[in-house]
Amino acid sequence: MSSGVTGREADVIVLGAGIVGVSAAHATRQRGLSVVLVDRREPGSETSYGNAGILSSGSISPLNNPSLWNALPKYLSNRHPALRWDPAWAMRNVGWLVRFLLNATPARTRPRATALHGLIGASLKLHREWIVSAGAAQRIRETGWLKAWRSDAVAQATAEQALLTEYGIRSELLDRQAISAIEPDILPVYQVGLLHTQTASVDSPGNVVKAYARMFAGAGGQIRQSEIKAIVPDGDGWRVVFGDGAISARHLVVALGPWSADLLRPLGYRAPLAFERGYHQEFKPNAMRPLRRPIHDAEGAFLMTPMEQGIRVTSGVELTSRDAPSSLAQLNAVVPVARGVVEFGEAVGEPWRGARPTLPDSLPMIGRAPRHAGLWLAFGNQHIGFTTGPATGAAIAAMIGGVTPPFDVSAFSPSRYL
Ligand SMILES: Cc1cc2nc3c(=O)[nH]c(=O)nc-3n(C[C@H](O)[C@H](O)[C@H](O)COP(=O)(O)OP(=O)(O)OC[C@H]3O[C@@H](n4cnc5c(N)ncnc54)[C@H](O)[C@@H]3O)c2cc1C
Repeated sequence: MSSGVTGREADVIVLGAGIVGVSAAHATRQRGLSVVLVDRREPGSETSYGNAGILSSGSISPLNNPSLWNALPKYLSNRHPALRWDPAWAMRNVGWLVRFLLNATPARTRPRATALHGLIGASLKLHREWIVSAGAAQRIRETGWLKAWRSDAVAQATAEQALLTEYGIRSELLDRQAISAIEPDILPVYQVGLLHTQTASVDSPGNVVKAYARMFAGAGGQIRQSEIKAIVPDGDGWRVVFGDGAISARHLVVALGPWSADLLRPLGYRAPLAFERGYHQEFKPNAMRPLRRPIHDAEGAFLMTPMEQGIRVTSGVELTSRDAPSSLAQLNAVVPVARGVVEFGEAVGEPWRGARPTLPDSLPMIGRAPRHAGLWLAFGNQHIGFTTGPATGAAIAAMIGGVTPPFDVSAFSPSRYL
């Protein structure tokens, strides 16, 4: 594993073993470099554990798109399950909110959709390859993802379908009968559905990340479980300081999800990362009334995904500090509504909370830190990081190797903010 003549422990150290870091480590190792992957926890234990498990082909429209302006009045009341916000946080982060909102114009949305389409397409291809080579193919379901409306929202569903069609993404518009045909065991509460037929889902995102990490280790990658305290320039490379020692490498990849900005600050980088927190709770499924695919209840503002341990109900967005105490208000509001769609039993385990790491343009940073050679940034994958992790990592590996990434990375350049 040592890179020998340089006296360093590895060619590359990857910080963070969520889906992004594990992917960067695996893709870099595939290029023949020696790689150490570091996390204080087991791989796939944080945001990449608790998400809804959707590998979304169609999430090309960032959340801050022009439709946000129409929705704003209902969000201002701070009672809508789709969005709760902490007024004190909003006062402290007015600048971030303004930048986020200023991106919600048609002119600024189209190029971001195109960029995300490239990232998503490359990533789904890798997921579908890796999940097989990692021996976890039984975890992926090619049953699509259903977005469903209780109201007669044909116009909205049709408009969403038109955008997908422009990008060559397939979907099917469904009426009440067609929804019942594909989900015969849910109650007939939805009038309109848009089935994203090229979207897949997994039954345990955390275990998929663990399988990818085992694949990396099986190929000679090294995994270290340590708290990372600091990153320090070290000659023409980098030293990573832990609570229990230090290691160095020529290249360093920061893939710490919602924690990514912290270790960069001492180097003079102020990454404008905000946290769209979200919650989940799982419930015992009723084997006689199974849910066959993830459903996004558009008006209820929640998702339900059949998982290994039960039906996972995930909530909308809570805008506040990353580490503020949990508020179960959104989850408590949507669980009874979800019960009105699918029959499920008692809760399995405690509610979970995570933080979607989001930059003001809703695009991740993928590339080199502007003022430091050998420092690579891979974070900010917001609502679709489980989907986009593999290609984010593969792009970083390609750039370290000096070759062209598998999709156009120009829109993701860290220099747009740093
Ligand atoms: C409710 C919810 C639902 C979601 N649903 C979906 C979905 O269906 N599909 C989808 O594509 N995306 C979804 N997402 C988004 C997705 O989960 C995230 O974008 C993605 O998991 C981010 O991955 P990551 O690797 O960047 O971060 P993480 O998975 O959080 O990994 C970061 C790692 O860094 C480690 N770390 C941090 N600081 C230190 C330190 N100092 N020392 C050592 N280790 C450290 C942490 O332990 C962690 O393991 C959802 C998110 C939420 C919250």
